[in-house]
Amino acid sequence: MIKVEDLSKTFGKTEVLSDISTQVNSGEVVSIVGPSGSGKSTFLRCLNLLETPSNGSVWIQDYEITNPKTNILKAREHIGMVFQHFHLFPHLTVIDNITYAPKQVKGETADQAETKAKSLLEKVGLTDKANAYPNNLSGGQKQRVAIARALAMEPEIMLFDEPTSALDPEMVNEVLDVMKDLAKSGMTMAVVTHEMGFAKEVADRVFFLDHGKLVEDSPPSTFFSKPETQRAQDFLEKIL
Ligand code: ADP
Ligand code: MG
Repeated sequence: MIKVEDLSKTFGKTEVLSDISTQVNSGEVVSIVGPSGSGKSTFLRCLNLLETPSNGSVWIQDYEITNPKTNILKAREHIGMVFQHFHLFPHLTVIDNITYAPKQVKGETADQAETKAKSLLEKVGLTDKANAYPNNLSGGQKQRVAIARALAMEPEIMLFDEPTSALDPEMVNEVLDVMKDLAKSGMTMAVVTHEMGFAKEVADRVFFLDHGKLVEDSPPSTFFSKPETQRAQDFLEKIL
């Protein structure tokens, strides 16, 4: 579903991603962990070309998104992304946030888009908030709307960049629960997170990034009990 070959990214003279190669299969959930500044966000953003890799290739299904000839807007329709700070449209109601792209980009009719949006709102437990504005929602509710909005484009892959890091602690689980359901439904997911419980319970693989290198790629049972590298051991000692 995702293939990355020799991916590097430099900002000026600083190399923030260094020669990363990996693959993610359909239906797999990968948790990406590592110290702050290790390149997790940059890696995720390279997967949908929000950052342009300096070197290497990225395939999303059959789209080689690093090939300049690829229609990147078309390719991006297959990839949903959820950010730490929600990025909802503040001037649109919840339902309009969700129907906007399906209508504008996919050409769905208002009826089609609304029917789907309502079923997504039910999925994320926010049926009663369809006509609310983002400013009147809690952080956890906003993030669940952001997830519903991404799903409305019917992506095959979902990328999450610290989706619970901006939330008050009591709201973290309502968002993680939605993500767990999504994982169970077979969605291919790459999740940058500090929620080690989620990584342990839900992820098929854990990627550990350090100084821009993918230094470990293991099942959570291995990563959390006997990480291969000293750097991962040091990281885990600090956070667990
Ligand atoms: P993480 O998400 O793991 O905290 P990032 O991917 O955000 O790490 O950042 C990796 C490194 O790249 C950091 O040193 C950061 O300062 C640098 N960086 C990220 N984005 C930019 C940018 N647009 N310009 C210059 N440096 C950047
Ligand atoms: Mg980050």
